[in-house]
Amino acid sequence: MFESCLKCAICYENCYLEQMGVTSFIRLPLQEDATNIWTCSNCWTCQDICPVGIPLMELKWQLQRKVEAPPSYGASLENILICGYCLPIDSDELNPFRLDDGLEPVTLASSNIIATLLQTK
Ligand code: SF4
Ligand code: SF4
Repeated sequence: MFESCLKCAICYENCYLEQMGVTSFIRLPLQEDATNIWTCSNCWTCQDICPVGIPLMELKWQLQRKVEAPPSYGASLENILICGYCLPIDSDELNPFRLDDGLEPVTLASSNIIATLLQTK
């Protein structure tokens, strides 16, 4: 997969994690800190900017299949299955914060509808 890599470092120099001081999976050998593979936000910048088209996202997905996700990911998925969102929040809780910041209130999609859409059976 990396035979044509130029080692130009453009991929990690343009990763926003790196710019925030978090070493991305692209630069860090996985065995040093396996959780870094889960901090990636799937923005695809690294792959899109690679001059020789290295499939970095495919590499990431392969690595994620081998490394257990942090416990917080499991909790988020459980919330999604229960209420449709990774954080159990609704419009009544969210909108006062938005109004305090001068933002328009929003109507969130019904968590029941999202939970129904996520059901596999
Ligand atoms: S896809 Fe992940 S590793 Fe690549 S630039 Fe975005 S956050 Fe960084
Ligand atoms: S941008 Fe592409 S060619 Fe350059 S170091 Fe990253 S993977 Fe290798």
